[in-house]
Amino acid sequence: MMSKAKCWMMVCALLSCVCAVAPAQNKGKLQIYFIDVEGGQSTLFVTPVGQSLLIDTGWPDNNGRDTDRIMAAAKKAGISKIDYVLFTHYHVDHVGGAPQLAARIPIGTFIDHGPNRETSDASTVKGYEAYQKLLASGKYKHIVAKPGETLPVKGLNVFVVSADGNLIDHALPGGGEENSYCKASETRPADQSENGRSLGVLITFGKLRILDLGDLTWDKEMQLMCPVNKLGHVNILVVSHHGLYQSSSPALVDAIHPQIAVMDNGEKKGGSKATLETFKSIPGLETLWQLHYSDEGGQILNTQDEYIANPQGPDKGFGLEVTAGEDGNFSILNPRTGQSKSYTAK
Ligand SMILES: [Zn+2]
Repeated sequence: MMSKAKCWMMVCALLSCVCAVAPAQNKGKLQIYFIDVEGGQSTLFVTPVGQSLLIDTGWPDNNGRDTDRIMAAAKKAGISKIDYVLFTHYHVDHVGGAPQLAARIPIGTFIDHGPNRETSDASTVKGYEAYQKLLASGKYKHIVAKPGETLPVKGLNVFVVSADGNLIDHALPGGGEENSYCKASETRPADQSENGRSLGVLITFGKLRILDLGDLTWDKEMQLMCPVNKLGHVNILVVSHHGLYQSSSPALVDAIHPQIAVMDNGEKKGGSKATLETFKSIPGLETLWQLHYSDEGGQILNTQDEYIANPQGPDKGFGLEVTAGEDGNFSILNPRTGQSKSYTAK
């Protein structure tokens, strides 16, 4: 006969197994959590087969605030490990939270664009060194991604568009047309910071195409999109660079004419006037969602209140959540209001 203790161990093992799978109503669905890291980035993708990809880890310090928020999203998604953590680049609002996160949850593989090239900025160097320490521990796999490669995330096609200042050199299926919006985009000087080296990905899930270029800057957008639109149309755009005016050229955003855009701005960082104005006139944009009300945007340029995760005032840490099927039907939930909006991929 089995001992009582052994029996309890088996019950516990069974329960933890049950907890590790996605909630039943989301079976077969892709979940995306836009986590509020106040003007940084952290976006968690959990595929129908239970694989997870976290793009960026937010800021360091703040008593582990950003890690707490990532852990809350992981718990909601029913995962106890993050399979892939991808760093778009080494600025502190993207890589800063890495050591705190690694201390709280197992991570399988780190993905990045290669060495830090911005050695003049102390906080970037500090964040990069802390990340290198994690890699040196030998506990993690490591991928240096190059444009044109597909990352090995099961259940999603994660295609690398940009990395370390390099870009894909050919049009993807769905792209290839001459880009008429290049003329409307001014030429800007080359960005010398880590932003322009952002590791950008185009993620495909069934009929859905999702673009996240990190903090890729205007000059690189022009190289990527002119004279030919290499990307084609996108259903969900993670607005580059928190909606700061240094990114989101018409050559990019008008040409890909996203159906939905999600801006990971803070109240006082990102959500620039010029960018919000650009998003007001993107052809076919159904909804702009924002993680925060933007002070700079004011009453006129911010999106409607119901599409803002955190309105004006003290931050409560609300995120936004996407549930998507391979058939192209998806919805976005604003956990603050409990309301969601449904879409069909076009
Ligand atoms: Zn940033």
